[in-house]
Amino acid sequence: MMKVLIIGNGVAGTFAAQYIRNQDDNVQIEIYSQENYPYYTRIKLPELISERVTIDDIIVFQEEWYKNKKIKTHLNKKIKSIHPKQKQAIIEDEDEPVAYDKLIIATGSMPNIPPIKNAVEMVGKGVFTLRNIDNALDIRDYIKNNNVKKAVIIGGGLLGLELARQIKNCNLDTTVVEFFPRLLPRQLDIDCGGMLKEVIENMGINVELDAATEEIIVNGSVKGIKIKDGREIEADIVLIQAGIRATIDLAKDIKLETNRGIIVNQFLETSAEDIYAVGDCIEYKNQTWGIIPACLEQSKIVAASVLEKKKIEYKGTVPKNTLKIVGIDLTSVGIFDPSDQDLVGAGWEILKNIDNKGRCYKKIVIKDNNLKGAILFGEKDAIPYVNKNIEKPISEAELRKAINLYKWVCGGCGSEYDDAKMEILFKYLPADWKCPNCKGPKSGFEKKV
Ligand SMILES: Cc1cc2nc3c(=O)[nH]c(=O)nc-3n(C[C@H](O)[C@H](O)[C@H](O)COP(=O)(O)OP(=O)(O)OC[C@H]3O[C@@H](n4cnc5c(N)ncnc54)[C@H](O)[C@@H]3O)c2cc1C
Repeated sequence: MMKVLIIGNGVAGTFAAQYIRNQDDNVQIEIYSQENYPYYTRIKLPELISERVTIDDIIVFQEEWYKNKKIKTHLNKKIKSIHPKQKQAIIEDEDEPVAYDKLIIATGSMPNIPPIKNAVEMVGKGVFTLRNIDNALDIRDYIKNNNVKKAVIIGGGLLGLELARQIKNCNLDTTVVEFFPRLLPRQLDIDCGGMLKEVIENMGINVELDAATEEIIVNGSVKGIKIKDGREIEADIVLIQAGIRATIDLAKDIKLETNRGIIVNQFLETSAEDIYAVGDCIEYKNQTWGIIPACLEQSKIVAASVLEKKKIEYKGTVPKNTLKIVGIDLTSVGIFDPSDQDLVGAGWEILKNIDNKGRCYKKIVIKDNNLKGAILFGEKDAIPYVNKNIEKPISEAELRKAINLYKWVCGGCGSEYDDAKMEILFKYLPADWKCPNCKGPKSGFEKKV
């Protein structure tokens, strides 16, 4: 009977196991995890700190699920090394090697700690990163036991902001510090970043942009941070949420091809026979992901490859991110700023619906009539349309309807007022505004559908 060994029980490893089982009842499946919990979702880890959820709430699959699926898990067991020739893995502190026929590396990723003076030295002692349940519990306990009043979060990305919201919910004075001149630099353009900053500040969270943290100020305990330009911000706790690094050490040790991640082909095969990789730890066509939709897509593919049934080709996953803060609707999909990515050139088109008053920003990026990306801030209605049509040809009429972007036609002279091209939406023009061409009244315009 074939034995598949999976290292890591995050979403990628767990769903790979499930997809294998769904297609084959006989394969032996074993998962090793260095963590002590069955599969849980990391999305709600910030809420574990503010005690809005419990550990039980975030566990997705309980013991029963593994039993029903005949998937054997070994928790609290770290794989120390792999011996590809013997087809064995070695567990830390154990003598007996584990044999496999096929190995799936699903070791995920770890938080990145930028080169900041005192950062590494103070981890666990006032400086924390957040990746797993134990990190969340450590942060919660440190706040409770050390009379923590002020917190700094280094990193104004999705995780940094979601963490800041929950830290604020712990009633701490909270400041987010971002290296780039805008929040969510990887998901937003400068205009939308500005709108988001206002909303975040209105939640009582301070925001410092253009701020390269140079040093954690330590005087017995953590006292704050120093920014390169001289700014200093007081803090009793510093939380670093500045990107992730794929966990590739096991793969590197056995000389698999690696770069930022473990390099795989379209079938998620690594450079060694019978060893596959899936999830945050992989790199495919120079890209790494770090999001759940990519893990889910890849786990189907790795299952097919391992079973050598009908192989499916991985084509990459369109990045899709939603900010999960109550009261903010923000989704960014695909290419949101061609000018930022050296893509400007023929064929690119941008449609924008900027509603400063309604704090709503909708931007659609099109290339040669194909939907390439979008930013949707302050509204949810267009999300299904964008998700359904991403990377597909679209009709402009349908698109305009989806993002409520209209053309208005003057009943007098037929002139058009196109919301997508003007600074102000037609609905916000003053009542006494007149057609620039024939001086006809605003009320004489009709929506072109
Ligand atoms: C706070 C937070 C919020 C997030 N929110 C979102 C979100 O809203 N949407 C979204 O799409 N993504 C989100 N993500 C990212 C998402 O969680 C990851 O993309 C996903 O968890 C990656 O899954 P994975 O299975 O590849 O790796 P991981 O979830 O990292 O799991 C890998 C597992 O392997 C274990 N492991 C590593 N090495 C070994 C070893 N040698 N031996 C044994 N075990 C080992 C690790 O300890 C870990 O448990 C969030 C992440 C965090 C931290």
